[in-house]
Order: sequence, then C-alpha cells, then structure tokens
Amino acid sequence: MAGIVVKPRARIFHGHEWVYASEIKKSFGNPAPGDVISLKDFKDRPLGSAIYNPASQIVARRFSRRKQPLDKAFFTRRIERALIHRQGLSQINPELCRIVWSESDGLPGVVIDRYGEYLVLQTLTLGMNQRVDMISAAMSELFSPKGIILRNDSPMRAAEGLGPETRLICGELPSKKILDVNGISFTIDLMGGQKTGLYLDQLSNYRRVAEYARERRVLDCFTNQGGFALHCAAAGASTVIGVDSSSPAIESAKLNAEKSGLNSVQWVEANVFDDLKTREANNEQFDIIILDPPSFTRNKRSLKDALRGYKEIHLRALKMLNPGGLLMTFTCSHHVSRKVFIEMVRDAAVDSKRTLRQKQTFAQRADHPINPSIPETEYLHGFVFEIMPAW
Ligand code: SAH
Repeated sequence: MAGIVVKPRARIFHGHEWVYASEIKKSFGNPAPGDVISLKDFKDRPLGSAIYNPASQIVARRFSRRKQPLDKAFFTRRIERALIHRQGLSQINPELCRIVWSESDGLPGVVIDRYGEYLVLQTLTLGMNQRVDMISAAMSELFSPKGIILRNDSPMRAAEGLGPETRLICGELPSKKILDVNGISFTIDLMGGQKTGLYLDQLSNYRRVAEYARERRVLDCFTNQGGFALHCAAAGASTVIGVDSSSPAIESAKLNAEKSGLNSVQWVEANVFDDLKTREANNEQFDIIILDPPSFTRNKRSLKDALRGYKEIHLRALKMLNPGGLLMTFTCSHHVSRKVFIEMVRDAAVDSKRTLRQKQTFAQRADHPINPSIPETEYLHGFVFEIMPAW
C-alpha cells in the first residue's frame, strides 16, 4: 500500500489523528488523492491507515491504527457503533440527533444527522466524498430510511478542494419536515435550512436556558428559527423578542411559533449589531439576553476581529441588563477558546461597569462527542452570567 513517512515530533505521536503537510518526511508508492494510505514513522514502523489528500493542509487523517480498507463493512461497523453510543445517552432522542460526528466517531469528514425517518449526510473530506455511495449503502442497511439527503454545502469543503453539492441520494424528499422538540413544533428544511436543518448541538440548552425565563423579559439574539425564544415563551416569559438577519430563518421561526401556539413572540429580521445599538439608544431593558452568534472566525488569523465583534455585542447586552439580569452567551468557534472567550466577557464587564457571577456553563450536546486528542472537536462553550445586584 502507498503511504507516507511522518517526521519525528509530529502531532500524531502526541495523540492527534492528523498529519499536516509540514510533518511529512516523504511519501512512497505514489498515492492518489482520496486513497487510503498507510502511515509510517521514521523507523518504518506502521502507524495505521489514513485518508490522503495532498491538496489539503491536513494531508492525512488516520481512521484506524491497523491496516484497514475503506469498504462497506467498515462503514456499517463504524456507523453502528456510533448509533449504539447515541442510544446509550440519556436525554438524547436517537431519532433526532447527530448519529455520526466525523473524527469523534472514527469517520473523518463524515457527518450523519437523523431527523426521524430521514437521514442527512455530509462528506467534508475528499476521501469520504469519493465514497458517498458506499456510506449511503451502509446507512440504508442500518436504518432503512425514507430518504437520504446529501447536504454538501459546507464552506469547510473548500479546504479539501471540494465544491458544493446538495441532492437526494435515495428515497423521497419531504418538502418540510415537522418535528416536535420538547413540545414545540419545528419546521425543518433538510435541503436548504442552516446546518442540516436544525442546530442539534443546542437542543438540550434550549430547555436549560428556558428554566430561567418565567416572567422575565427575554431578548434572543441570533435566534435562527427561534429555538431559545420559543422555549422561553413556553416557559412563561413575560415578553420575548427573537432577532435574526436571515429572512428564511425568521419565516421558519414565525411558522414554528404559530404551530406551537406561541404567538406572543415578536420576531425581528435585522442585523444584531444594529438592533442592539438601537435598543441601547432607546434605553430598553431586559432580564435575559441570549447571544448565540455564528462563528465569527474560521481561522486563527481573524481572531482579533472576531473578538472585537464579540465584545461589541456583549458590551451592549450587559448595558441593557438589569441588576440580577442574566446574560446567556455562546461561542461556537473552535478558535475562540474558553479562556479567551471569558477574557472578552470580562473586558466587556469592565467597560460596562458590571460585576458578573458565573451561574452555569453549557457545552455542545453529547451527540457531538469530544475527542480529547483532537481539540478541534470541542467547539461550543456557553455561560450564564448574572449581573450582580447592588455592587
Ligand atoms: N440560536 C440558534 C442558532 C444560531 S446560529 C439556535 O439555537 O437555533 C447563528 C444565527 O445567526 C443564524 O441563524 C444566522 O442567520 C444569524 N446571523 C448571522 N449573522 C447575523 C447578524 N449579524 N445579525 C443577526 N443574525 C445573524
């Protein structure tokens, strides 16, 4: 089998599963892009099997410590193991969850989300993209779904030299799928909605945030299709406003509210940066402000700009919270570490002359498991900060 020899001190010797271009000593056997290759150390000892893409910065991603071909039996085994893991998680409905999450399930670049009888597949690496048929055959065998949708519109694919591709692989396509999440109706567009239709990683956090919402005035910034806002309304918040700049997202939020009988929520299609500025100028006050922005940075280079953006919205939010008020804030960028994020919040607290108390923390839901050897698999951090009264 063709392969590469990895330089000493490469990440893979410290637990990571990736080999970067700068860590390759030499390649042998002339592997083709997308091939399964064998990895070796500088003493010719085997390190396992990986998928190869010389066009990516991450040239090899190991998926087994053994010699392992990528065949249908392998995919069936790995997907089944991932499913069993989800079935064992309390508080997660295995009918509505991420079944496979890439490196954390030993399938680098493969994401499979399950929405009842429908499955959505993403292939974010060249090696896995070349094997869509094999992966979907394994999915059909394991789940007998009504339909499998390929949602390859993630910008992450560009790093692997892959363009967008969205299509129905097999079965039928529901025009809109309606699902019940904690008693609230969500209308999901599997072909065109953000992510694969729903922010599955936040599902458990909706309920936790809503626990604080009774008789409170809530502002849900970056509401998407209203996950936090609707849960807060259902929990008895006195007023709820949901803001998002995406018109289809706001349309879905309105539909969800109507179907769930939560008609008091006010939906605003606007840029949160402008919206917060206007509300601050109008001296509006809230008891709870939720900030769940998109990742402001996809790389380390733009971290500074991202932090400036985060700080601006935090500063404005803190100024509009009453003493005893709660800031619920999330970051979903792996490049913004927990430490850096807290430092940014602290700076915003200094500037707004507020003293904070950390009441609770949140993480990505357990169907997006973290692989401790691959820090990139930990990306969602969330906090509840209380404005200390009379300080
Ligand atoms: N809280 C949501 C997920 C938010 S994802 C949930 O749990 O479902 C981020 C959202 O921010 C997306 O819906 C996107 O449309 C929106 N968005 C991105 N930039 C924005 C901006 N500047 N102002 C308002 N909304 C924005």
